[in-house]
Amino acid sequence: MPTAPSDPRRRIPRTDDLLTLPEVAAASASLSRPVVTGIIRGVQDRARAGAITPEDVQAEVVRLVTGRTPSALRPVLNATGVIIHTNLGRAPLSAAARAAIADAAGYTDVEMDLGTGKRSRRGTQARAALLQRMPDAEDAFVVNNGAAALVLATTALAFDRDVIISRGQFVEIGAGFRLSDLMESTGARLREVGTTNRTRLEDYADAIGEGTGAILVVHPSNFRLEGFTGVPPLNDVAALAHERGVPLIVDVGSGQFEPDAALPEEPSIAEALRAGADVVLASGDKLMGGPQAGVLAGRADTVAQLSRHPLARAVRVDKLTLAALEATLLGPTPPVLAALHADPAELRRRTEALADAVHGAAPNAGVVEHEGRVGGGGGTGVPLPGWALRLPTRLADPLRSGEVPVVGRVADGACLIDLRCIPEDQDQVLAEQIIAAAAPAESTEEKGS
Ligand SMILES: *Cc1c(COP(=O)(O)O)cnc(C)c1O
Repeated sequence: MPTAPSDPRRRIPRTDDLLTLPEVAAASASLSRPVVTGIIRGVQDRARAGAITPEDVQAEVVRLVTGRTPSALRPVLNATGVIIHTNLGRAPLSAAARAAIADAAGYTDVEMDLGTGKRSRRGTQARAALLQRMPDAEDAFVVNNGAAALVLATTALAFDRDVIISRGQFVEIGAGFRLSDLMESTGARLREVGTTNRTRLEDYADAIGEGTGAILVVHPSNFRLEGFTGVPPLNDVAALAHERGVPLIVDVGSGQFEPDAALPEEPSIAEALRAGADVVLASGDKLMGGPQAGVLAGRADTVAQLSRHPLARAVRVDKLTLAALEATLLGPTPPVLAALHADPAELRRRTEALADAVHGAAPNAGVVEHEGRVGGGGGTGVPLPGWALRLPTRLADPLRSGEVPVVGRVADGACLIDLRCIPEDQDQVLAEQIIAAAAPAESTEEKGS
């Protein structure tokens, strides 16, 4: 439909003219051409639809290109007190791991022995670092994530055979994702034993037969069975498995190397190996505190069988992950473990300092006791004593959409800001974000009163 001369749509600036604006030209240095023209077209379309005036198009384009980076993922301050927050990317990496990723980003010796110039086993360095932390493991292999480790182990050890698993360990790991569905999709048959609350050693023993591929013990990492419950000790399951010549796979989930007094019920890789597991599976980005990865560790022959399986190639881990994992293990305490062991007195001191820093903008912000959590992937339900700054709930939205997004915990009629997962060198930035979020709202209120 031709537009009438008076039609305001005729006043919408043309793409070529917008592209020559200095701000747009500058943004084109860090953004691809299709991204820039996509932003321009989007704004023009909004003007055509009457959502903005043609006169606003230029300013809107400048606003959008100026804030745009090639990756839209943004660093967030996690003020929830939940250490492993899947929606926030699970484990934040240590400075050492971040630096290792940057170094490995170009060409790197991930599969080359620089001494001989010959091809080497992929990820030798990360494997060595893992074995140093897991002296009970004869060998280790890294894949893309914990789920991939489970798929690989069950496929390589139990394809077209039964995987015996206790009924109480049929876990759904989140967002409707069930481990049982995952394993069945690989062609292993699940053979449930016991009842939801109790499984005995005889239940395992009775289920072992000709068609058994493996016994799988899964740590129910995101729920707790309480009351009249029980599973046999892992030692006994391992002894049974060995006696009957069946491999034992133990999925500990969280990736905790050794028992930790802070999480008394959390299984560790070391305990599972010492109990006699043939292969132990764990995630890299839970309590290990590293990048997304799946670690398989255990007997040399079992690990070799898994790593040589054709599926291993499809779940191969990339060089950035290997670099970050190695650096997580060899570098200083990763943030996840620092947050887990944070001293409550120290958290209180920082929270009180934060309350002082934001007092002008949020005079009623109080310091309250607040329990942190390990979150997705370990220490289910274990409270971690700490403190939070109590802000009005209405600040939650502006804090999330501020210049540096801050995600607090909305509960008990407040927006709670817990410093456990915030690096101390970010306390100042956090205070600025709170002041920015609180200031306009407070001043409106004052005007109204
Ligand atoms: C988290 C978890 C998984 C899945 O690991 P991802 O690294 O998320 O793929 C599998 N099993 C258990 C017991 C877990 O806790």
